[in-house]
Amino acid sequence: MSSTAPTPADELESQTQAIGQSLWKHLRRSSPSVLDRRWWDERILAWAMTDEAVKVQMFRFIDVLPMLRTPEAVTRHLREYFEEVADHFPGAARLALEVSSPGSVLGRAVAMAARRNATQMARRFIAGQQVDEVLQTLVGLRRKGLAFTLDLLGEAIISEAEADAYLQAYLDLLRGLGRPVARWPINRVLDHDHVGLIPRLNVSVKLSALYSQFNPLDPARTLAGVKGRLRPLLREARAQGAFVHVDMEHYAIKEMTLSIFCDVLREKEFRDYADVGIVVQAYLPESGRDLERLRDWARERGTPVWIRLVKGAYWDFETVVAAARGWPVPVYTRKWQSDDNFERQAEFLMENWQWLRPAFGSHNLRSLSHAIAAARVHRVPDGAWEVQTLYGMGSEMAQLFAERGYRVRVYTPFGDLIPGMAYLVRRLLENTSNDSFLRASFAANVQIEDLLMKPADRGAQLPPEPEPGPDPVFVNEPLVDFAVPAERTRLQHALGEVADQFDRRHPLVIGGRRVDTRQPLVSLNPSNGAQIVGSCPRTTVEHARQAVAAARQAYRAWSQTPVEHRCEYLEVAARKMLDRRAELTAWIIVETGKPWTEADADVAEAVDFLRYYAQQMRELDQPLRCDVPGEENAYTYRPRGVAVVIAPWNFPLAILTGMTAAALVAGNTVVMKPAEQSFVIAAKLMEMFEEAGLPDGVLNYLPGVGEEIGPVLVEHPDVDLVAFTGSLAVGLGIHESAAKTAAGQQSIKRVIAELGGKNAIIVDDDANLDEAVQGVVQSAFGYAGQKCSACSRAIVVRGAYDEFCRRLKGAVESLVVGPAEDPGTFVGPVIDPEARARIQAAIAKGEQAGRLLAVGRIPEGLGLGYYVAPHVFADVAPNSPLAQEEIFGPVLAVLPAESFEQALELANGTRFALTGGVYSRSPVNLKLARQRFEVGNLYLNRSITGAMVQRHPFGGYKLSGIGSKAGGPDYLLQFLVPVNICENTLRRGFAPNKQAGERRT
Ligand SMILES: Cc1cc2nc3c(=O)[nH]c(=O)nc-3n(C[C@H](O)[C@H](O)[C@H](O)COP(=O)(O)OP(=O)(O)OC[C@H]3O[C@@H](n4cnc5c(N)ncnc54)[C@H](O)[C@@H]3O)c2cc1C
Repeated sequence: MSSTAPTPADELESQTQAIGQSLWKHLRRSSPSVLDRRWWDERILAWAMTDEAVKVQMFRFIDVLPMLRTPEAVTRHLREYFEEVADHFPGAARLALEVSSPGSVLGRAVAMAARRNATQMARRFIAGQQVDEVLQTLVGLRRKGLAFTLDLLGEAIISEAEADAYLQAYLDLLRGLGRPVARWPINRVLDHDHVGLIPRLNVSVKLSALYSQFNPLDPARTLAGVKGRLRPLLREARAQGAFVHVDMEHYAIKEMTLSIFCDVLREKEFRDYADVGIVVQAYLPESGRDLERLRDWARERGTPVWIRLVKGAYWDFETVVAAARGWPVPVYTRKWQSDDNFERQAEFLMENWQWLRPAFGSHNLRSLSHAIAAARVHRVPDGAWEVQTLYGMGSEMAQLFAERGYRVRVYTPFGDLIPGMAYLVRRLLENTSNDSFLRASFAANVQIEDLLMKPADRGAQLPPEPEPGPDPVFVNEPLVDFAVPAERTRLQHALGEVADQFDRRHPLVIGGRRVDTRQPLVSLNPSNGAQIVGSCPRTTVEHARQAVAAARQAYRAWSQTPVEHRCEYLEVAARKMLDRRAELTAWIIVETGKPWTEADADVAEAVDFLRYYAQQMRELDQPLRCDVPGEENAYTYRPRGVAVVIAPWNFPLAILTGMTAAALVAGNTVVMKPAEQSFVIAAKLMEMFEEAGLPDGVLNYLPGVGEEIGPVLVEHPDVDLVAFTGSLAVGLGIHESAAKTAAGQQSIKRVIAELGGKNAIIVDDDANLDEAVQGVVQSAFGYAGQKCSACSRAIVVRGAYDEFCRRLKGAVESLVVGPAEDPGTFVGPVIDPEARARIQAAIAKGEQAGRLLAVGRIPEGLGLGYYVAPHVFADVAPNSPLAQEEIFGPVLAVLPAESFEQALELANGTRFALTGGVYSRSPVNLKLARQRFEVGNLYLNRSITGAMVQRHPFGGYKLSGIGSKAGGPDYLLQFLVPVNICENTLRRGFAPNKQAGERRT
């Protein structure tokens, strides 16, 4: 009998098992319990582990706690959070909750206890708030034979002032700790690698915190912004003999993080700096490729760097975001795959340790045992690699590794409690997740063999993934991910091609005929008024009449075209749009000054409208039956007739397509009148419908000046329906004129009108200000505030008012203003010189209504674009024009409110009811907003723009419009008339059976 020799893989596995078993035995013996059980045993976490409902409420409560300034607020939130899950609590806790009214002595005691417990919990994970406190912690770690890396916890960086402060805090830290740390006696394991001394002082930084406008769409500006602060940090670290480790954050900024790291460290000044490192996340399938790139780069640089290999802290975020956006999931979706990849990459690091010095950031005994075994198998010297753990997690394991002579570095966060809580919640979530190794290791009957099982073997034991369910009937078209370089290149290319087609003529299309006139109308690029994007004939009243006549003539045949065929026309047009997606995005950018992402979203929404209305029409085409014996009843729909579509320029493709597609698929013929400022994009839409084969006259393209041809169209007796989106004044005018019946008119006109808004976001005093400020900025200044859904009032409850204003000011003053063609632009130009003059006049009057809080910066040399700097006015009087009139530009009014109820009253105190938002962490206040906020679209704890077809059907009431919501289930009904047909089927006492397979009431 011959025995086969063990392979290197067998050898690695058997060493992994031996190391793991031995470590486990020691951990078992350690007192008082396994790993960090002491904190784990605390009741609060024990509940959280067993009860998902309690866990969610508890973590939400911990998250909001630092923002609660009074004991009353703490007790109120405690009650609000735990009311729903109170019956899951032990009796004493339940009683305390029930009897503790916010103002009472007991209430205050409960509040104090809650704060104390949460603070204690935070202290397990956060080393302290001040440098001297931190120093004490570091001395404590050192005594235990543990090295450290310091991480400064911070709020999201949303202004350049905050980025400066973040950098300064690191510089102070390096200067403040450099000397005391240098005085510590030598510890051979901690202070030496395999060659010689290594830095004791070690910091970890997040690059996104070094530049407030960190934007994957705009690598050049981001690189410059980050490098400007990274270089001084590296210089100071070098001067202090310190080590700098770059953390890795979410996937969207991974490429940029890697390229900034590599770029700066290849610079002459830093080329020989070896005391630097970066994180690689094994939950990313592409981590192997990244490590190869880093190895090649380090070789070329000639100096090694450290790699901290982790699994990755953003797993939930990445999976949720990808699902919501319809993007590919960038992470492994099964835990064993991340574990397996961690081991593969650990081996790669061990094989390439001369260039990539391995640091293993994990608390998983299997992963770490495997790393140690790999070091032995690949004969990597002891000091050339290290283990890293998080402060407060797996500390008994860290201690054991240290006792066995390995260098263990503890990632030690410090800083204020408010940002600290977010960190704390992340750690708690990590530890209580079902897939967590630490959690598994605390299970009552845990078997070490299970814990140490090879990841691939564990994977093989799992049941196969369930088959995906049937595809949904409608799915929103995902947005383009411009963080992907190839997508940016594609759009840049399209912008070039579109520029080559500037200044072309786009004739009218009436009854399938091209019609031109001498007098032109031109469309200019708002980012550069010297560029003529295109021209069209100046439409006359006569053309308008001809277009209505053509539509009328085509009506009979079109209205009798089978619904299925009409739906297919829309779907063919949708496919054409997708084929020309980059080109259409480019046209939107140059013709309406819309920045990249929003221009792309415009195209995606247009596609959605086409597909969604096709699907809706198919459903409506099934007669609704209500038969009884001897009588058949069918409720069906017919088209209305000739529709006039009058569209705005601010969603030049989406809204135009939406109104037009709805009218067409319902069987109406259409006269399509786009805005004067965006007729080139409308011409492209016309082209696509023509290419889809729409018969002549069914759709007529009639650009022109609204004041000249609008009244003719609206008042025309042969028009049955007007679909309008635009300003309140014009909308009311249309409504009034359409109500008059002209001689010979055969139907009462139906008007669908989407009008303006004076949309408010309420910021409660317990809101997460990182999110609230960013949400308000996004909603108020995205597309320079030129969306009907834009936020033009922020109503802030007093307790958060000053802090909100301070951070908002910094954020607005840091925004990038520029041409829409520039991918980094956040605030582009406004649509035309008239709009600019109107907005500037509103700004000039603004100071009478409030205090000028912030003005954005328009950079020099923007040339002939129609720019208006973002403006924010604070302390605005609620009844002033600034707080009441729609401005449709980058102007925001901030109003204080004494309570949440008052904030709601202020929010409702306008003529409009379109969109609104609330940032609050109080379940009761969110409920109140649901009941009382008078808006058609309410957004809780998110920005208020960017409505998506089907998910957020869009439209308001009061003076914000009449009609059902665009992109919603009732929208098409407005383009149809319902008809009921009743047939007596009884013939001489005999009635057939009812038909099956149709909709029934
Ligand atoms: C010193 C140190 C520094 C760190 N720095 C960073 C950093 O810069 N950036 C960063 O992102 N993380 C960082 N982390 C956090 C680290 O990513 C998490 O602590 C780590 O993922 C937990 O892994 P584990 O091996 O300890 O535990 P385990 O319990 O073995 O692994 C948990 C991890 O597995 C992955 N996972 C969970 N469920 C699934 C699933 N269904 N499918 C696929 N994968 C899944 C997730 O990454 C999860 O965090 C750091 C950790 C340490 C110790």
